[in-house]
Amino acid sequence: MVLSKAESHSDASVHSTFASRYVRTILPRFKMGEDSIPKEAAYQIINDELMLDGNPRLNLASFVTTWMEPECDKLMMDSINKNYVDMDEYPVTTELQNRCVNIIARLFNAPLEEAESAVGVGTVGSSEAIMLAGLAFKRRWQNKMRAEGKPCDKPNIVTGANVQVCWEKFARYFEVELKEVKLSEGYYVMDPAKAVEMVDENTICVAAILGSTLNGEFEDVKLLNDLLVEKNKETGWDTPIHVDAASGGFIAPFIYPELEWDFRLPLVKSINVSGHKYGLVYAGVGWVIWRTKEDLPEELIFHINYLGADQPTFTLNFSKGSSQIIAQYYQLIRLGYEVWLWNIMENCSENALVLKEGLEKTGRFNIVSKDIGVPLFEISDSLRRFGWIVPAYTMPPNAQHVTVLRVVIREDFSRTLAERLVSDIEKVMHELDALTARVTSKILVTEEKKENDVNVTVVKKTELETQREITDAWKKFVKARKTNGVC
Ligand SMILES: *Cc1c(COP(=O)(O)O)cnc(C)c1O
Repeated sequence: MVLSKAESHSDASVHSTFASRYVRTILPRFKMGEDSIPKEAAYQIINDELMLDGNPRLNLASFVTTWMEPECDKLMMDSINKNYVDMDEYPVTTELQNRCVNIIARLFNAPLEEAESAVGVGTVGSSEAIMLAGLAFKRRWQNKMRAEGKPCDKPNIVTGANVQVCWEKFARYFEVELKEVKLSEGYYVMDPAKAVEMVDENTICVAAILGSTLNGEFEDVKLLNDLLVEKNKETGWDTPIHVDAASGGFIAPFIYPELEWDFRLPLVKSINVSGHKYGLVYAGVGWVIWRTKEDLPEELIFHINYLGADQPTFTLNFSKGSSQIIAQYYQLIRLGYEVWLWNIMENCSENALVLKEGLEKTGRFNIVSKDIGVPLFEISDSLRRFGWIVPAYTMPPNAQHVTVLRVVIREDFSRTLAERLVSDIEKVMHELDALTARVTSKILVTEEKKENDVNVTVVKKTELETQREITDAWKKFVKARKTNGVC
């Protein structure tokens, strides 16, 4: 016997969304529709539209993790419905966060006894971490100025002009003047000497970057520390240092253990790192660690009596997901020191080298990144057509005539992909040559026209000038597609 049930609204139960009316119904974009649509249709429609997004794995613009092991994906999905802030209900998640804070603090050489708890907090990313660290510095400075009976309404912070945009955000949102050390051609990070020169009594901290957003270069935190120690001694101030190690915090402890940039330096009072960059977790986790309890003013900590328990919190948001915290703990215990160092960081460095050598062999590129630093490159072309997503941007003041493109080498960027990218770049170079030829002929044509005009004396352009015009034309072409929100 065949049992069949006739559906009155046949569209609602069709097996293929594409056979239904939903593929030709116009969904209102900016207001809610009157009727519901079946879940399959909703899924398919959204999924199809999302196909037009770039492929995250080929997004070389970003430091942010785009691949994790399936076991970790599963853990994350299993905890997707857990609100992190319900610490009372999810004490194990809270415990995992505390373990992460402690592990990371020890990676950064925080001065802790064997069983002593570190001071730090998980955040949505380095931006939130930086807001919190900045607030702690501002409050400490205000307390100190008030205690000395001095005005405390004009705080400032000294950074390089290469800082990530979240520092500008912090400055604007929390009313702190941002004093930027200008860059110069060929030197794209903060000059510690110039930074210390800019420090005054109202400076709440100097922020150094470990892994400049622009070229991955590490700033010289040790030199900054030493110069600032001297200046503090002369002036009687105690201007501290924050290290924005968003990208480098999970690199330096592994491949440059001798490099002193962290709590080994006495003036470094807080450090932030993005768990979702080389902490190898998908977007949505960062960390801020303070050197000691004294560096985080008690009055910034909220003690909430939530569902019967005292919960100290220092975050900007209340609710957030737990998955990223759990995933961070997974990466820390799963990989351990050895794998992190050898199988991931060394792989990244080696694949960066393959790309570097491949690019240098073309003889057409200047590699801006240094050998020590975050594995990142600026190259000179856009490769979107091949699926690669590579951002273009100009350098900050005093070096803004330098237009760069960057490639971040992440864990999931394999040797095969590195070689593929080089070969795609070579293809693009051939096209670029063709374009250059077209621009050249256009310039020559314009010149000929001018020469035919009897009333104008025309000096024939030198080869150098012509070259410059070609470069300018090319720069304009790249600039038109420039993005600024590099992360
Ligand atoms: C990425 C980055 C940030 C911002 O971090 P998010 O985790 O994306 O909020 C801040 N500073 C530096 C140096 C960065 O590289």
